[in-house]
Amino acid sequence: MEHITDPRRTLPSVDQLLRWPVISAFSVQHGKTLLKEIVAEQLSHLRAEAVAFDADAFCESVQARLTAVLSPSLRQVFNLTGTVLHTNLGRAPLPEEAIEAMAAVARGASNLEFDLHTGRRGDRDAHLESWLCRLTGAEAATVVNNNAAAVLLMLNTLAKGKEVPVSRGELVEIGGAFRMPDVMQRAQCRLREVGTTNRTHLADYADAIGQRTGILMTVHTSNYKVVGFTASVPEQRLAHLAQEHGIPYAVDLGSGSLVDLSRWGLPAEPTPMASLGNGVDLVSFSGDKLLGGPQCGIIIGRRDLIDRLKKNPLKRALRCDKLTIAALEAVLRLYADPDRLAERLPSLRALSRSQTDVAAQCARLLDIVATWAGSDYSVSSEPVMGQIGSGALPIEHLHSQALIVRPVGPSKGSGSRLTALAARLRALPVPVIGRVQDASVILDCRCLEDEATFCKQLRAER
Ligand SMILES: *Cc1c(COP(=O)(O)O)cnc(C)c1O
Repeated sequence: MEHITDPRRTLPSVDQLLRWPVISAFSVQHGKTLLKEIVAEQLSHLRAEAVAFDADAFCESVQARLTAVLSPSLRQVFNLTGTVLHTNLGRAPLPEEAIEAMAAVARGASNLEFDLHTGRRGDRDAHLESWLCRLTGAEAATVVNNNAAAVLLMLNTLAKGKEVPVSRGELVEIGGAFRMPDVMQRAQCRLREVGTTNRTHLADYADAIGQRTGILMTVHTSNYKVVGFTASVPEQRLAHLAQEHGIPYAVDLGSGSLVDLSRWGLPAEPTPMASLGNGVDLVSFSGDKLLGGPQCGIIIGRRDLIDRLKKNPLKRALRCDKLTIAALEAVLRLYADPDRLAERLPSLRALSRSQTDVAAQCARLLDIVATWAGSDYSVSSEPVMGQIGSGALPIEHLHSQALIVRPVGPSKGSGSRLTALAARLRALPVPVIGRVQDASVILDCRCLEDEATFCKQLRAER
């Protein structure tokens, strides 16, 4: 008589369930397709677990699952990690001007590749090229999906089937799977390693150049620094060497700022303008690192070389979409007025905030965070070191201030209490991402602009 006590026997069918008023009410809001999928899915869970059927619990589970499936996966978070341009958290926040520009072209048709003067087909790079040339003094410019794509395009266009001498000190991995030697291979170039990890001289490059050399290339060692007994060749001398041999010289600058950051008390980072001034033929850099714009890769330099890049079929595969172009154009327009840039560009606004200003904010938030955390934790405001991020100046630090949350009481189990606190922060409506370090959760407030939302959700949680 086993089958009579089997709870699976009493399960209603999917169609029966969809006719239940509570369940069918969900379809008014969400439609029938997803609802049917979820009802079937929940039913098969019950069948697998062989638990008794409870109508109320079933409806609740369907509703919870609907909510979970329909809530966006890609969401806004608060970046309180202390790393301003955090690759895992989407790098540069965009200015309102860029967001408006994206929304305007997203809604309908645009002149993306249409010349409004002649009425003929246009070039999508045209929206950006004049700005990039004005701001950098370059002859020409083109834009692709990211800087990794820019490097790939330069190598494949100018050195396919040829050798590219690169210093052993610059064969870098830039997070994820972007390793210079692998990119060379995918671009169908042969890497010719020159020099040593810590020292590379002009003669090393000169010896490596031959009939088969396609281009010279240097890579900004953005995410690490070789210190001590080191030598690298200045761009000016490499540019000269390349010119003597009639080969182009390209520089992957990585972050590349369009303004001198020392103006805001930040450490100076190499600029594409300086590279061009040194005689470099092509410079590539990211749009969403120090530039503070959307994800893209910018290549500036000699007109004849840029024209060759644009004719490579890979360019078609690597090109930017209209939203990126709209956002980048709006960001570049802000650079026309460098005096107001630190107010208007969110990434620079965060980078240039004084420690005093961040500390004042921490003081305002201290009680709210302490109350939210509860009596198992202590909260204090302390000076900390932050980072620019995205490989820019990896060993330079930003003086900042953070709310530091520590478990109180016995140290036993404090590790799991830290993990639990970090998880609670991530579970907030707008998740808060700090860093867990030194037996504490550190909330560096440098990038916290929407203080009202931050406070509101902590108050509501209690
Ligand atoms: C960040 C970086 C890249 C990759 O740029 P993405 O825009 O992230 O593709 C390439 N080279 C260097 C030196 C970098 O710092």
